[in-house]
Order: sequence, then C-alpha cells, then structure tokens
Amino acid sequence: MRDPAISRFAASHLSATRRADDLRRLRSERFDVLVVGGGVTGAGAALDAAARGLKVALIEARDYAAGTSSRSSKLIHGGLRYLEQLEFGLVHEALTERGLLSTRLAPHLVRPVPILVPLPAGGLPLRAFRRSYYGLGVATYDAFAGVLGHGRGMPLHRHLSREGARRLFPSLRGDVTTGAIRYFDGQVDDARLVVTLARTAASLGAAMVTSARAVGFLRQAREVVGVRVRDMEARPGDPDAEFEVRARTVIAATGVWSDDMSRMLGDVGVRPGFRVRASKGVHLVVPRSAITGEAGLILRTPTSVLFVIPWGGHWIIGTTDTDWQLDRSHPAASARDIQYILDQVNPWLARPLSTDDIEGVYAGLRPLLSGEADATSKLSREHAVIEPMLGLLLVAGGKYTTYRVMAADVVDRAVRRLGGGQPSTTEELPLLGADGYAATWRDRADLARRRGVPAGVVEHLLERYGTLTNELLALVEADPALAAPLAGAPEYLAAEVAYAAYAEGALHLDDVLTRRTRISFETAHRGTESAVHAAEVMGGVLGWDEAVRRREVEHYLARVEAERESQRMPDDATADAARMGAADVRGLAADRGLEIPTSAAL
Ligand SMILES: Cc1cc2nc3c(=O)[nH]c(=O)nc-3n(C[C@H](O)[C@H](O)[C@H](O)COP(=O)(O)OP(=O)(O)OC[C@H]3O[C@@H](n4cnc5c(N)ncnc54)[C@H](O)[C@@H]3O)c2cc1C
Repeated sequence: MRDPAISRFAASHLSATRRADDLRRLRSERFDVLVVGGGVTGAGAALDAAARGLKVALIEARDYAAGTSSRSSKLIHGGLRYLEQLEFGLVHEALTERGLLSTRLAPHLVRPVPILVPLPAGGLPLRAFRRSYYGLGVATYDAFAGVLGHGRGMPLHRHLSREGARRLFPSLRGDVTTGAIRYFDGQVDDARLVVTLARTAASLGAAMVTSARAVGFLRQAREVVGVRVRDMEARPGDPDAEFEVRARTVIAATGVWSDDMSRMLGDVGVRPGFRVRASKGVHLVVPRSAITGEAGLILRTPTSVLFVIPWGGHWIIGTTDTDWQLDRSHPAASARDIQYILDQVNPWLARPLSTDDIEGVYAGLRPLLSGEADATSKLSREHAVIEPMLGLLLVAGGKYTTYRVMAADVVDRAVRRLGGGQPSTTEELPLLGADGYAATWRDRADLARRRGVPAGVVEHLLERYGTLTNELLALVEADPALAAPLAGAPEYLAAEVAYAAYAEGALHLDDVLTRRTRISFETAHRGTESAVHAAEVMGGVLGWDEAVRRREVEHYLARVEAERESQRMPDDATADAARMGAADVRGLAADRGLEIPTSAAL
C-alpha cells in the first residue's frame, strides 16, 4: 500500500530513484502477489491486485509493453470477424470493455475510429446478399455494444452508397466497390496505456521494476514461494545482480514466454495445462498522404482480415498471421511479409502502394493458446488461468482489449488462495490522467493561453497524458528548453523525453523512441535523426555521462540498421538472422526459449 504521506501523483512517478527503492523492497519484503511480466495483462493484474489493497510487486524483463503489448493493431474492439465465427460471448465481453475504457477508465487514451467495410462489386443478387450479410453483422455488433453492453461513446454504424464511400475514402477504387458500411471501434496507443496502468498501480503502492527478469522459481516442497530475479541493469560481475523475491502468490503474465514459466518447473515434472504458441503479425506504416481517406478500412484476406487504420499523420496497415518459432524478443518482418500486406491492400486502392511508401514496419507475436485447431488464425482468442503448482498462477491468451477481465480473473484466483479479500474494483477505477479529462479537454484553449503554449501542443499532450499534461507543462515552465520540438520528430516535445525518464520508467533510449513515443515507426528515418537529441535530454534526467549517451545512441542505430536489413531478407529464417545482428540493449541473449534454468528448491 502507498505511504499516505506521499500524494498519489508523486507515488506514480517511475523515476530511476523509484526503481532503486522498489528494487530494495523486492529484496527485503514479502509480497501478497508478485506479477511476472509488464505487458498489458501483467500491468493490469498488478493494478487489480493493488486496488484490492494487496501488497504487490511486478517485475518485467525488459520494458513495459516491450513484448506484444506495443506491437498490436492498436484497436480496442470486439472483433467484427469473431461474430462470423459465432463467438458471441467474446464479442460481447470485448465490447463491454471497449465502452468502459473509452468512457470511464481511459477516455484520454481510447478514442473512436471510423472504419469502412467496403462492399465488393458484383451482380445484383450478390451485391444485395453482401449488403444484408455485412449489414446484419455490423448491426449486431452495435447492438451488443449499445443495448447489451456498455457501448456508449461510439457512434452507430451507417450504410454508404458507392459515392458516399468514395467521398469518405477517395482512395478506394470505385470499380471494385459498390458501397460500404461505416462502423466505429476504439483506438489506443497500446504502449502508452500499459505504462499508464503501471503508473496507476505504482500510485497505489505497488513496487514496479523493469529490467528485472525472473530466472527461476523459489519452492518450498511442492509450493512456489517466490522468484529468483536477475537485475538486467546490474554491472557485469556484480555479485548481487541475482536475488530472491518472496511472495505468497506468483502470477506469470508472460504472453508468448508462458511455456518458459512451466519449463522452469520442469525438474518437478509439472504439466503446464496449456501451451502458448506464437503467431507473428506484421504492420506497415505509411504517411497519411499516401492514401486519401477519413476512415479506416477492414478488408478480407485469404486467412483473416487486414486493417488500414488512420494513425495521426500516418496509416497503419496489417496484419499477417504466421507461425513463429524464432527470436521472441525481436520478431523480424521479412520482405515476404511486407509484400503480402502490399498485395492484400493494393487491389482496393486507386494508387497502389510500393515499398517506397513505407515509413515504418513492426512485428508482434500473438500469444495463442494452442490445442484447439491447426491453423493459428483459427485458434481461440479466449484466455485461460491455471495453477500448475501451488502458489503459481499462469494467465495467457485473450487480447489487449480484454486485459482487465483477464487481470480480474487471475487476481480472483490469487485472492481465493490468500483467503478472502474484496472483489475487483478496476471497473470503477479511472487510470491516471482520466480524472477530469472531459472538462480539461473542453477548456483546452484556456489551458494553452494560461500556459503560453500553442493549442495544438496542448491537444497533442492531452491525448497522450490526459490531465497529467499539467506535469509536462510544469517541466517546460521550469526548463523552457524542453518546449523545443524533438530533432527529427517535431510533433513531439523534448519535454516528453524528459518526462519519460522522470516519471514513466524509461531506462534506455529505445524505451523512449519505440514505446513512450512511437518515433521508431512513425518516421522514415525510424528515429535515427532523433537519437542524439533524445539521448541528450534523457541523459540530463538520468545522469548519463558522454560514454553512456554514445552507447545508447549506437545501440539504437544498430537496432534500426538490423531491422532494415531483416526487412530486405526473403523469409523468416534469414530475417531473424539479420535482426540478431544487433545486440539487445539490456543484454538479453538469443531468446528462443532454449536456455531456461530450472527453479531453486529451498
Ligand atoms: C499483430 C498483433 C495485432 C494485435 N492487435 C490487437 C488489437 O488490435 N486489439 C486487441 O485487443 N488485441 C490485439 N492483439 C493481441 C494483444 O496485443 C495481446 O493479446 C496482448 O498484448 C498480450 O499481452 P500480454 O501482457 O499477455 O503479453 P506481452 O505484452 O507479451 O507481455 C509479456 C511480458 O512478459 C515479459 N516477460 C517474459 N518473460 C519474463 C521473465 N522471465 N521475467 C520477467 N518478465 C518476463 C515480457 O518481456 C513481456 O513484456 C494483437 C496481437 C498481435 C501480435
């Protein structure tokens, strides 16, 4: 629980000093719940447990959202295509979460985005059939959200003629469509929501430590009683780099690394109960000017669907869906993945895209519970909670949108084990930055005038930090140099880099350029032209000397070069080999799940 002498906002600051304090707590205290994994599920579980008054810690091997949770399609959605698979329960649950997030929990981070379902050209009977079929689907979707769910906050769908569709999306080829249906889903900056969850958990007293990797479980007889942790920031040879953390319950929310957790118990012959497979999804990012349209598109592909989604001054286009068994920390997109996406989207566009249009590319791994079907795209998106050994709960599967449900489920199980406790309260708990957001947004022109900054800057900050914008503006007031735009990425302020290091737990340049901001995929230079400036600002907060600054920049440049090289490679194996050419900034070895230590018995 939080020290009552400290304000909730101060307690939410994930600074370097806070990391050192929380590391000390990990070594010395015993926690009710220790969460392993700082993706959306782990950060959500830490928040859920902390909000119930439990003593909570979270460790994350790399950075918040460094795994799948920063590499999604960034939709908070029910999944229109799951209706076709008759997964009504899943769709309803996800739409309920969409409504909660966009109206109460995180209205500053989750916003409506219009999406068109284009109706392909064809003979009259086929056209009539398709309009009724898709129309029924979208109407059911809205009904689940509005009538049966908590769907306020998203406008209802509308049918459009061919002319109507092309007015909204002039780049849509008129000869292949007869019209469209426009519906709405939620859009989120996935990495920012995770860091906001982590900070909200920290504000309630949870110890939150990134660059801290679980390398084994502590056991007493047949019960897990804690975790052995390696501090990935410790100096080489530091004898204290590995230490033990005691907890009454360990929750592993490790996504595509879930099988590693079971394997760490291999010596006692524990059967995991479920397996998690990784399916790779690649997205391309192109400038907004490459396509003219005011809504997104959802397009059918041979195996799944492809989204074209407006993202500020860009479009995000994806995704692929292929089995992946190579490096999980740095999944690589190959030239084949990129060509597949171009081949799927181009038949719909008046001006086809080419590789010259691409600004950024990112790849993520879906954590799919395996066992139900052969083709990965048909595997269930449901989540599961299991207790493979007393004291250890594994939670995996599901999707970003339903993180809160997954978190509540696994913490319910932990609470039962701990002997009672209150039910989940996260349905009623706005994340940091959400309180007072609507009024602050309404009065944003006033705020801009009072603080002497352009209205556009205030809007940009409000949509990324909500009411915490005031903290950034205070930083700028204290040091006006921070009002400068970041080199190579003028839509971001230098202050955002400083704030990331001061309050958002960023420890490395990569954390800032890839996840606190999205410069790594939003610029054609992929952040290389921002690296030196960002390292200067970050180094100022974290006390980096010249050598550290240089090392951080070199690491980042090498990473970008390795990614570019991998994207020129023809297939997964060669792309993976090229990506492995750049070392991980946290010193992680190749991450193929081979070198898993077993747990320590006490
Ligand atoms: C291409 C793609 C598009 C998607 N689009 C959407 C979408 O639009 N909407 C949606 O709702 N869902 C979407 N999803 C699904 C969603 O992104 C994932 O379900 C979700 O992000 C998984 O979160 P997680 O926290 O379970 O896993 P992760 O985010 O992978 O988190 C697991 C964390 O555990 C850490 N970890 C692993 N091992 C250890 C260890 N030993 N010690 C400490 N930490 C460890 C990792 O570093 C990682 O940060 C998409 C997925 C993909 C791949």
